[in-house]
Amino acid sequence: MTGYGDTYYSRTLTDASPRPSLEGMVTADVAIVGGGLAGLTAALDLARSGRSVVVLEAERVGWGASGRNGGFVGPGYATSHANITRMVGPEKARELHRLSIEGVRIVEDNINDLAISDNKRVYGKMSVLRYDDPSSLARHCEMMQREFDYHLEVMPTEAVRAVLRSSKYYQALHDPACFHFHPLNYARSMATAIESLGGRIFEGSRVTGCDLDDVEKTVRTAYGEVRARDVVLAGGGYTDNLVPRLRRSILPIATYVLLTESAPERIAEAVRTPMAISDNRRAGDYYRLVDEGTRLLWGGRITTRTTEPRRLAEMMQKTMISTYPQLKGLRVETAWSGLMAYARHLMPLIGKLQPGVWYVFGFGGRGMNTTAIGGRVIAEGILGRTDRYRLYEPFGLVWSGGPFGVAAAQLTYWTYQVMDLAKERRAARAT
Ligand SMILES: Cc1cc2nc3c(=O)[nH]c(=O)nc-3n(C[C@H](O)[C@H](O)[C@H](O)COP(=O)(O)OP(=O)(O)OC[C@H]3O[C@@H](n4cnc5c(N)ncnc54)[C@H](O)[C@@H]3O)c2cc1C
Repeated sequence: MTGYGDTYYSRTLTDASPRPSLEGMVTADVAIVGGGLAGLTAALDLARSGRSVVVLEAERVGWGASGRNGGFVGPGYATSHANITRMVGPEKARELHRLSIEGVRIVEDNINDLAISDNKRVYGKMSVLRYDDPSSLARHCEMMQREFDYHLEVMPTEAVRAVLRSSKYYQALHDPACFHFHPLNYARSMATAIESLGGRIFEGSRVTGCDLDDVEKTVRTAYGEVRARDVVLAGGGYTDNLVPRLRRSILPIATYVLLTESAPERIAEAVRTPMAISDNRRAGDYYRLVDEGTRLLWGGRITTRTTEPRRLAEMMQKTMISTYPQLKGLRVETAWSGLMAYARHLMPLIGKLQPGVWYVFGFGGRGMNTTAIGGRVIAEGILGRTDRYRLYEPFGLVWSGGPFGVAAAQLTYWTYQVMDLAKERRAARAT
């Protein structure tokens, strides 16, 4: 047992060696609460700049969403560029989008600079429409080229259906710069790099108390404490009541993934591309071939229920078969869930709570690039090099609505599901 549960990533982990838990008192320049990719990216950048860092992780490094996700790395946020423009205006929205592109480069650079060899990147992503609408995709491509010099291509329906054998699909946007990878191996490689720079990482070390008001702050676990001038709170969807204001600002939302048995011929009846695939529904499907094309890793669905539903594998299998009936009977080997943190405005929560107290979380379902840029701008803020973290100030720590927020989020999701279905049915009738 690795302590990561039974996921595709825990099964293919290249190094599962555990780290000690915190005992006694240690001091550091910066204490980081949460060993997901947000906390680890901040820790790595700080360690690279000569700061002493301590990362405290309740479970294991990358145990949270960072080590159990779809593994898709691409630009953007959990909400659309159009929504961000509505919230902050076109200029700021453009700057924010550029940061999200930089986030992808940070991940690529880390893999290259740290010579991470157990993380093959597979480039290319198709975002597929479930109704016929080539002109909206063409407009989007044109906007991305004009505003960001970012190249996307429209794939016509025939080209899509040649590689994705589903009558549900129409055109797709092809992004050649997106890639997919093994996020847990990446998180663990980051941890090793932090340690090689003198940083300390403690697993099984849940922070249960803190004093954050003095110049020297203290964070406490069951058997130890860290004293540091700066504290970074990076608990993702697992953020607890350590700092109630942070917990109140997010809704933890669960999403699910399955891994099929190895059956290359059967899978090739449905999926004939190594690219990452997602559809255009809100909280739609996302999937990709893994293990050299022999298995499918399929994710989708969201719920505000944070406990794992019984019959998770069956539920996810139904979703897969509704797009690819030819995969009926394909065995599911394992299925798992993970928690994402969503703020009401759907944008990341990145900033300074009070002098020396920083937060970086709320990345929703688009965390691989945004944790990277979030960790980086927080590190820059602590080092006093830039105040780019302030670009996220318009998206403050607003109350997520507590139980009312949970109910509203679930209701919104169901409404979207019905709307998406109606749109698809209209498209099907028209063809
Ligand atoms: C199933 C799934 C699929 C996804 N697919 C994608 C995808 O393909 N592409 C993409 O871009 N994004 C995806 N996401 C979103 C992405 O994974 C997350 O947004 C991102 O990993 C969040 O990183 P994080 O560091 O903020 O949080 P996490 O990775 O969740 O890390 C937070 C850590 O903090 C620890 N912690 C919390 N409280 C304490 C405490 N008091 N003391 C000590 N430690 C604590 C937790 O144990 C946890 O390990 C997916 C998410 C899920 C769940």
